[in-house]
Amino acid sequence: MPVPLTIRILGAGVSGLAASILLATDEHRVELIDEHFATPAVGTALALFPPAQSVLARLGILEQVRTISAAPELGTLRAADGQVLATVPAGNALLTSRSELVRILLDALPGSVTTSRRRITDIRPLRAGVDLLIGADGVHSLVRRSGWPGRPSARSHGVTVLRGTTKLAPPEISETWGQGWLFGITPLAGIGTNWFACVPEHRTGSREQDLAHLRRTVGGHRSAIDAVLDAATPHSTLVHGIHTVGPVWPVRQNTVLLGDAAHAMAPNLGHGANTALQDAQSLALAVRTQWGREQRRGTPPDAAPAVVSRALRRYAARRALPGQGWRLASEAMLRVAMTSSAAGWRDRVLSTSIGRIGPWND
Ligand SMILES: Cc1cc2nc3c(=O)[nH]c(=O)nc-3n(C[C@H](O)[C@H](O)[C@H](O)COP(=O)(O)OP(=O)(O)OC[C@H]3O[C@@H](n4cnc5c(N)ncnc54)[C@H](O)[C@@H]3O)c2cc1C
Repeated sequence: MPVPLTIRILGAGVSGLAASILLATDEHRVELIDEHFATPAVGTALALFPPAQSVLARLGILEQVRTISAAPELGTLRAADGQVLATVPAGNALLTSRSELVRILLDALPGSVTTSRRRITDIRPLRAGVDLLIGADGVHSLVRRSGWPGRPSARSHGVTVLRGTTKLAPPEISETWGQGWLFGITPLAGIGTNWFACVPEHRTGSREQDLAHLRRTVGGHRSAIDAVLDAATPHSTLVHGIHTVGPVWPVRQNTVLLGDAAHAMAPNLGHGANTALQDAQSLALAVRTQWGREQRRGTPPDAAPAVVSRALRRYAARRALPGQGWRLASEAMLRVAMTSSAAGWRDRVLSTSIGRIGPWND
């Protein structure tokens, strides 16, 4: 009977935490490394769709997540003048605070998981003494940049994302597309409003000035946006760029990439964390299936390399395509939402031919 695998995971974000819980529950020896092990300071909302909710159910935390989430039914996509371009069903998504989700996942870590808080600067020592190394280390993944041919790095899309929370009750649930900018408003249970915005790259290093720039760029078009921006404060605002990575095969030897490390995507379809959770579940299931097969065959206890190699092939066959598909679709959505020159044409096409699309999910 094969002995439990020794598994090292770099990254305690959504994907690394979910993989740790599932693999440790199957009695593998898991070490989880992260430089922070911290819940994000500003709990902006993630939309979690039914496939991701079924992963949360498998993790045993779905009901806990549901109690702290909002579950709106509809949102609107609007032009800068407020015209409704489309009414979009929410697709049974739960809108959940990112920091609450990470806190719940951290609390659910089995006691058997060894955690280690440190920043990794060299991947080579992480490979030693383990059957499987998992790179769940996000968009700028060191595992990917160190171990994959061509050292694939993330590239910037020339867009700055600002997002935040306010105590204001959400004036509406909407995403407004302007000329070269977008602004979204959603509810955030227990807080009030979650908002997000994309503008052409502009970062000053001061959140106060970044917010002032945002107010100048998107303010004055719609009263709902102005109300949210009036309530926004620098200490509950996050500012960063959008980075994505070209196509990579998520498996190499006994190393595998999960979540953003494998397929960092633009945030415009709200599927990064969803695919990260599904990756974690798929990997754990592939390992479990392969492990079970070897057990039934009576494979010798030193069969770990064969178990890992077959499990990773199975994982890649399941997850490579969906991950890359969402990455490409999200990038296309970013372009359409942020177009400046074709904004008038875009709005006409949307308002006359689509009207109702789904699911609404950013
Ligand atoms: C504006 C915005 C809105 C979004 N909205 C949604 C949404 O509505 N729905 C959705 O599904 N997704 C959304 N996403 C995407 C989602 O946040 C990510 O896809 C998801 O968090 C990725 O999780 P991960 O575990 O792969 O990586 P991360 O969460 O990035 O975790 C990586 C971890 O690795 C650690 N780490 C990295 N390098 C090292 C190192 N060298 N040493 C030690 N530790 C290291 C980091 O500390 C971090 O904890 C959004 C993203 C953005 C930017």
